[in-house]
Amino acid sequence: MIESKLYYQEPYKKEFTTRLKSQMKDEDGNWYVLLHATTFYPTGGGQPFDTGTLNGCRVVNVEEVDGEIRHYLSQKLEQEPGSEVEGKIDWSRRFDHMQQHAGQHILSAAFVETTGYETISFHLGKDLLTIDLNTEEISQQQIEQVEDLANSIILENRPIDTIWVTQEEINKYPLRKKLSVSENIRLVIIPDFDYNGCGGTHPSSTGAVSVIKILDWERQKNKTRVYFVCGNRVRNQLHVKHHILKEVGQLVSSSESLLVNTIQHLLIKNSEGEKEKANLKEQLLHFEARELVQTHEEKNIVSNVFQNRSIQELQKLARLIVAENEDAVVLLVTENDQQLQLVFAKGTNSHTNMKELVKEVLPIINGKGGGNESQAQGGGERTVSGEELVKNTISKLGL
Ligand SMILES: [Zn+2]
Repeated sequence: MIESKLYYQEPYKKEFTTRLKSQMKDEDGNWYVLLHATTFYPTGGGQPFDTGTLNGCRVVNVEEVDGEIRHYLSQKLEQEPGSEVEGKIDWSRRFDHMQQHAGQHILSAAFVETTGYETISFHLGKDLLTIDLNTEEISQQQIEQVEDLANSIILENRPIDTIWVTQEEINKYPLRKKLSVSENIRLVIIPDFDYNGCGGTHPSSTGAVSVIKILDWERQKNKTRVYFVCGNRVRNQLHVKHHILKEVGQLVSSSESLLVNTIQHLLIKNSEGEKEKANLKEQLLHFEARELVQTHEEKNIVSNVFQNRSIQELQKLARLIVAENEDAVVLLVTENDQQLQLVFAKGTNSHTNMKELVKEVLPIINGKGGGNESQAQGGGERTVSGEELVKNTISKLGL
């Protein structure tokens, strides 16, 4: 079985020729083929499957099921079992996986070496990689030490060896983790640094990983998740982040080194502006209240129809008016789209019950509302104009 896994013998092999063993459908009706040998790596050990082509047909997924490597295809192959098949893997995807996977070995080993924290799980995602460590806390200083060690191992360009051993032979090696298999044991070794049981594909030396960058880390219950990238992904990250920084810098007219200060300054200015706006609005309401009182002097009924005002604003305005004129009955209505909203209030010298008044008027607009004797509010449909509603309410006052 091992002999047919060409990705183990020659991890740098991109193309191969073999014979078709069989072609069939799985439980879900998807076509897959079995080959006598393959360089297509099936999903496993945290490493995603290879893609590519078989006789020009797209390989969209590769899974190992019951010891067989299933190559899922975008369509059925024309060839009969026994005929020759040419395979080609997408090398940039595979090499990326090799860089990332080997990078993870180096980083995990660097964590143990520097902090004693062990990796309990690993995920190789489309953009980022994560490892979970058996610790609740890591300091910035530890992260920097680990990153330094990992990158120095890369720079030393140590070999990455893979060997097959028997159960008896494993004791000779200082393995990091207990093995989950007892036969066909494959060890991936970075001499004097990392000894690991692993079924993934790796480059032949650490230099090929190029660089490792830890991006972030966070506590998750009793473990810590570390986010990182290796190899070409570091350049991709730099490219994206640099682009964002440049754009933000242009937006706020700031150099990169002053960006944080500039944005802090803008945020402070903005919140000061918001406070000033609230103050001015408050002052404006006082003016508005005074003006409404002055224009409705004779009857002590202060009424007005507004457009698109909030009920909170009208409540405030009503309170200011009755404070100015203790004899007033205040009828404020606002037309907001298809709705009418109203706020009624009375000064301390008036004896009209606002709650009752609102209750009497609301049926006209199929509305709902509530309040107390001195101030009440409500809202409903725009069945009549605001002006008509005010008129109608005044007629109910019987003044
Ligand atoms: Zn590995």
